[in-house]
Amino acid sequence: MSDFDTIIIGGGAAGLFTGACLSHDYKSLIIEHNKSVGKKILISGGGRCNFTNIHANHQQFHGKNPHFHKSALKRFLPYDFIDLVESHKIDYYEKTLGQLFCKNSAHDIVEMLKKECEKNNVEIRCQTGVKNISQNQSGLFELELEDGEILTAKKVVIATGGPALPSIGATSFGHSLAKKFGLRLVETAPALVPLVLDQEQWPTGLLSGVSTNVDIWCDEGPVFREALLFTHKGVSGPAVLQASSFWRPGKKVYTNFFPGLNFNDLLEQQRRVNGAHQLSRFLKQYLPERLINLWLDLHSLNGSKKLADLTKKEITDLVMIFTQWEFIPLSTEGYRKAEVTRGGVSSEELSSKTMEAKKVPGLYFIGEVVDVTGWLGGYNFQWAWASAHACALHITSVLSEEGRDA
Ligand SMILES: Cc1cc2nc3c(=O)[nH]c(=O)nc-3n(C[C@H](O)[C@H](O)[C@H](O)COP(=O)(O)OP(=O)(O)OC[C@H]3O[C@@H](n4cnc5c(N)ncnc54)[C@H](O)[C@@H]3O)c2cc1C
Repeated sequence: MSDFDTIIIGGGAAGLFTGACLSHDYKSLIIEHNKSVGKKILISGGGRCNFTNIHANHQQFHGKNPHFHKSALKRFLPYDFIDLVESHKIDYYEKTLGQLFCKNSAHDIVEMLKKECEKNNVEIRCQTGVKNISQNQSGLFELELEDGEILTAKKVVIATGGPALPSIGATSFGHSLAKKFGLRLVETAPALVPLVLDQEQWPTGLLSGVSTNVDIWCDEGPVFREALLFTHKGVSGPAVLQASSFWRPGKKVYTNFFPGLNFNDLLEQQRRVNGAHQLSRFLKQYLPERLINLWLDLHSLNGSKKLADLTKKEITDLVMIFTQWEFIPLSTEGYRKAEVTRGGVSSEELSSKTMEAKKVPGLYFIGEVVDVTGWLGGYNFQWAWASAHACALHITSVLSEEGRDA
């Protein structure tokens, strides 16, 4: 006899949604070491939780195996989550690029998930963490809680996320546990995180608060067209957070301050028609003045020079600095500022259909703890919902089969 059929460790997005999808016929428990569940959900999307993205499909996710996440994402679509949100009469709106946010507050999502867990008789225990897990001879899992209690369960779901944002209880527990059970990890790193620049080379501190739309890309990964924000330490904003997930230490980041425009053509055309205009007047049509001044200064270019008088070399320099600004970040701002952790439990170790560990039947890994990372824009929650859904369906079907066999 076990104390519970299923114990879910971590009362974040993935853990709560597992509870919301499990059958009420079985005894389930969520263990969360914070005082309350869903802390990350509450601060997400500036307090309004960007809970999904209507354009979500496998293309906005990355990990070592680019196919692993396809199955779960296909079987639980953004519209499945939207249906649930609507059934709870939660008002939401599309902000931009398919991102859906709560109109009122992220609390609505946490309350919805708690209600769904309650409907399924899922017990939630807060303020006690799990210290250790082992499997006994009969295959039951024994969980040692921080308060010393020992609980047993037939199935255990690890939904403890990654170490991003430790100030709200994030830990590497799931990764250590995976190692303990002999599962491989893909190297982890902060992702969706601001980048730090050498202030002597690029004194972005002087531009702190200035924002502009850019195309940004790394040697790997797609080109993102969103806003870049200069900070005291370097660069941030949606564009940079997106690129940070693909950046590797020592590698370059490339930025085009004229996204979707042909800088060269624009300049040549202006030189023909408005040759007497100053360079800075031309640039001001497209970029914030503080950025123009610093950029021209850094490259010893004179903003008061007439467009018609620019030399070939100056034109080449202008094209380079405004359409292919290259920089090598010193670092990221680390887990303290990261929205997610990239890497994690290797997808080679898990079934893509069920999230169960191939070597340890009954042990499941879902959400951010797995080596699947989404872009900024509601995709990471969609992965949390979809992986939780896949895992919960499998647990329910296995428990039902085991019940019939008993
Ligand atoms: C500031 C911020 C804003 C974000 N905004 C968005 C957004 O708008 N849209 C989006 O899609 N994504 C967003 N994200 C990312 C998203 O929050 C995560 O991808 C998602 O929460 C991952 O869900 P999870 O359940 O796997 O992990 P988490 O939500 O991190 O949940 C893990 C839970 O496990 C608990 N835990 C850890 N160790 C233990 C232990 N040993 N015992 C018991 N409990 C434990 C933690 O306290 C936590 O509650 C944001 C992230 C941050 C940091």
